[in-house]
Amino acid sequence: MSRRCVITGGAGFVGSALTRRLLSDGWQVVVLDNFCTGRAHNLDGVAGPLELLDLDVSRPFDVTGPVDAVLHFASPASPPDYIQRAIATLLVNSSGTQHALELAERKGARMLMASTSEIYGDPLVHPQIESYWGNVNPIGPRSVYDEGKRFSEAMTMAWHRERGLDTRIIRIFNTYGPRMRIDDGRVVPNFFAQALRGEPITIYGSGGQTRSICYVDDLADGVVRVLEHGDAMPYNLGNPQEHTILEFARAVQALVPGTQIVQRPLPTDDPQRRQPDISRVRGELGWEPRTSLGEGLALTLEDFVRRLAAAAT
Ligand code: NAD
Ligand code: UDP
Repeated sequence: MSRRCVITGGAGFVGSALTRRLLSDGWQVVVLDNFCTGRAHNLDGVAGPLELLDLDVSRPFDVTGPVDAVLHFASPASPPDYIQRAIATLLVNSSGTQHALELAERKGARMLMASTSEIYGDPLVHPQIESYWGNVNPIGPRSVYDEGKRFSEAMTMAWHRERGLDTRIIRIFNTYGPRMRIDDGRVVPNFFAQALRGEPITIYGSGGQTRSICYVDDLADGVVRVLEHGDAMPYNLGNPQEHTILEFARAVQALVPGTQIVQRPLPTDDPQRRQPDISRVRGELGWEPRTSLGEGLALTLEDFVRRLAAAAT
């Protein structure tokens, strides 16, 4: 009989790619989502045994039937989204995580918690390795997400140590690809939406800050590897190729010729540098990203062109 998993936040950008991947691996998938930043149509055309339940995981909930794995991905993830939903973000990464852990215990299931490179804050160690504790402003506007995820990691480790739950933690670095919400506010959707609308692309600050961006299907492959073969200590998952924001802007200008650039103020506490050290996941689980920046951006652009054209008609 095929295994059955629950994905919270499965109608979001990463969750919907992971749902597709798990269905193609033969899992039955139950998606729990309140659609605050996700969309049911992200799962359009999905083939396989999928159930989609509209619920807020920050409130107590149950799922009927057997469950072999709980993957907790519910949380706003784009800075404008989580700053606008500050309290809901803290709740889904505290009560929501608690409810996901309780479900996993009731069902005798494995629990995987989706954490983030943001737990390293504005890092003083570069590249970031899992043993680094981070540099987070606990009361800044980003703290609702950063501290929420840090709490969520602490809670997951407590359930592992105190109650013997079989748990996994992944620290996801910036991920991009098809189905990112067009108005999500993160750098890749902003740049593509602006360029395709003929607007200048907005660089915040000097553009000298760096990110290392991973194509979403590569990320989904890493999640599956950690779920199936990892252990309870955290794994960084991301693309180690580091670029400045100005370099991303130039890549978008090459794909959409004629695009202009404007500068906007740098948001508060915007991390200056970010690059994952992936030696643990590469060495232990043989995972690394396969999709080049050029390929990934082309696939994402194709999806944005199609969706913006559909929205215009
Ligand atoms: P997203 O906003 O597209 O998806 C989040 C999903 O969670 C949405 O479908 C949303 O409706 C749902 N959700 C939020 N609160 C909920 C609640 N209380 N109950 C039920 N559903 C709820 O964001 P994403 O980029 O797909 O991120 C998904 C997960 O991956 C998040 O946990 C995020 O922290 C993590 N992550 C993503 C990235 C990235 O670059 N995309 C990087 C690091 C970590
Ligand atoms: N950024 C930018 N222009 C935009 C959106 C983002 O220059 O229109 C910058 C932002 O200041 C940050 C980087 O791009 O330095 C990545 O931002 P994003 O919101 O995608 O993710 P995060 O800050 O969470 O890594």
